[in-house]
Amino acid sequence: MRGPRISHLFFTDDNLIFGRATVKECEEIQRVLQVYEASSGQQLNSNKTSLFFSHNTANGVRETIKTMFGAQVIKPHESYLGLPSLVGRSKRNTFAQLKQRVSNKLAGWKEKLLSNAGKEVLIKAVAQAVPSYTMSCFKLLDTLCDELTRMVRQFWWGQVKEEKKLAWMSWEKMCLPKEKGRMGFRDLKLFNMALLAKQGWRLQTNSSSLFYRVYKAKYFPKCNFLKATLGSQPSFAWRSILSGQAVVKRGVRWQVGDGEQIQVPTKVKHFAWKACRDILATRENLWKRNITKDNLCESCGKAPETVCHIFWFCDRAKEVWSSSKLILPFEISPSWKFIDVMWKLQKLSDECPGLVERTIMICWGIWKQRNMDRHGGSSQNGIAIVRSSLRILDEFQVANEKPQTTRESIAMEIKWCPPHLGSYKVNVDGAVFTKQKQVGIGVVIRDSAGEVIAALAISLLVLWVRWRLKPKLWRWGSNLHWM
Ligand SMILES: [Zn+2]
Repeated sequence: MRGPRISHLFFTDDNLIFGRATVKECEEIQRVLQVYEASSGQQLNSNKTSLFFSHNTANGVRETIKTMFGAQVIKPHESYLGLPSLVGRSKRNTFAQLKQRVSNKLAGWKEKLLSNAGKEVLIKAVAQAVPSYTMSCFKLLDTLCDELTRMVRQFWWGQVKEEKKLAWMSWEKMCLPKEKGRMGFRDLKLFNMALLAKQGWRLQTNSSSLFYRVYKAKYFPKCNFLKATLGSQPSFAWRSILSGQAVVKRGVRWQVGDGEQIQVPTKVKHFAWKACRDILATRENLWKRNITKDNLCESCGKAPETVCHIFWFCDRAKEVWSSSKLILPFEISPSWKFIDVMWKLQKLSDECPGLVERTIMICWGIWKQRNMDRHGGSSQNGIAIVRSSLRILDEFQVANEKPQTTRESIAMEIKWCPPHLGSYKVNVDGAVFTKQKQVGIGVVIRDSAGEVIAALAISLLVLWVRWRLKPKLWRWGSNLHWM
């Protein structure tokens, strides 16, 4: 639980020293500083030195230490390396300085006549870069982001003094990338989230940093960053970083989506990867890239052809799924992306083995048919699509089946021990025969002498629902063979 003890943070001439608020400890710090001064020939500037006490420091102790150092007590918004070292209740005041800095930069340029290209460079290189350091550690208030954006926007549209120019293109559009013919200005809120997520990513992947060790000990001692919660007394920095957690999770999902554990043919895996990244050549995606005039689904003509529409909401897709008899254990909402569905399925992969693969295969079948239709190929009905897709999966899995030896070798090591005198022990085991789509179940009841009292062995034809088996087992009790 204990984190590393931090005695100091040094960065060239900006240094922090931590210690207990006792006279003894302060005397020791002073002694060290004197040694430093004597040997380096440098002197501590007491005007630029400040002290900060934690809340529980008694007033008497504060006064004594203050006189010892001759330093002023920290002002509320003092900063370390340009970042506020203490974030109090009023976030607005804490970050007011930031707004002032951006405002000063812009005010300096307003006097000058700048071309649009010049303004663009200044906005990107300076005005939007000034807050980025702060934004990589703290989540700025939405109102502050809005104010900063307004300032930059007004500068762009040539605001002189306070007069407002008509903003004839929405800022959201201005923030779209250059490929789309826009300016590629930063959306500050999104940029803020991206920077915080980057810190979160560091916490998830780099366990050797001091940053990791401190935060790990304080905020997620028993799990990883992705599972971390806010906790009881979160600092503003932690609250900020945690707000990027969802973005990191999404990033990790890409990894899961690319995962090796999904057993489908390579070409299908490639298709799934594209679908997860939403880069399939759907009408919607082509339209977004100005390749087609509209984004309507060519099959039904009712809705934009998004990935989700093609695979779940188009009448065509509905027909395929109803002939597949494969029911997903959750509802898909139209706003979901393909990766959201995959993510859900992955989480259920223990309860429903093979469901991810079957779903991907059928989607691939739908996608193949959709492309056939567009190019005037032969049309298949839902049943045919499902059959041919699942047959390809079966063939692939049979060809790639690995002998399952691990289970047996573990079983060898575990010895059966008899139950206490007068009681019985029930042993249950099952095996899955993937090729035959069968499950075998065995039950043995033995007494304290190890004598078999009753036994049962059955095999079942199943699709994929493993979790339903256990409860059912007890209902087959009447089938036991009593010895
Ligand atoms: Zn459609």
